[in-house]
Amino acid sequence: MLTIDCKDVVSIKNELLVYVADQVAAIPTLKHHKFTLSSFDDDEIIDISVVISAIKEYLDSIDEGHNFAVISNNDVINITSISGKVIERTTTKSKHELFSCTHCGFVTQYQVELNVHMRIHYL
Ligand SMILES: [Zn+2]
Repeated sequence: MLTIDCKDVVSIKNELLVYVADQVAAIPTLKHHKFTLSSFDDDEIIDISVVISAIKEYLDSIDEGHNFAVISNNDVINITSISGKVIERTTTKSKHELFSCTHCGFVTQYQVELNVHMRIHYL
């Protein structure tokens, strides 16, 4: 079983897992900040060099290949940011914007509600 540590590329972990598992025909298991690859057959050993090239291929495909080093250490493969820059998820849903009252700290998601609320301070 191989472990791929994705702490610097958490935002693309799922896509990477699908791509790599497909390339090496292994069973992927998603874990926090990492995923593992198991062979279908216990006797089979996953070729670590194939996994590493698949990871590099994927990083190249999203134009991040030059920013990350893919380093194996026994059964663990680390994807490490060279520059310290991590891949930000581009599709992050924006957090609900919150409006807060400068007078009392009342918080609402709605500008309109805040406007209505603010009136109580001017009565
Ligand atoms: Zn208020």
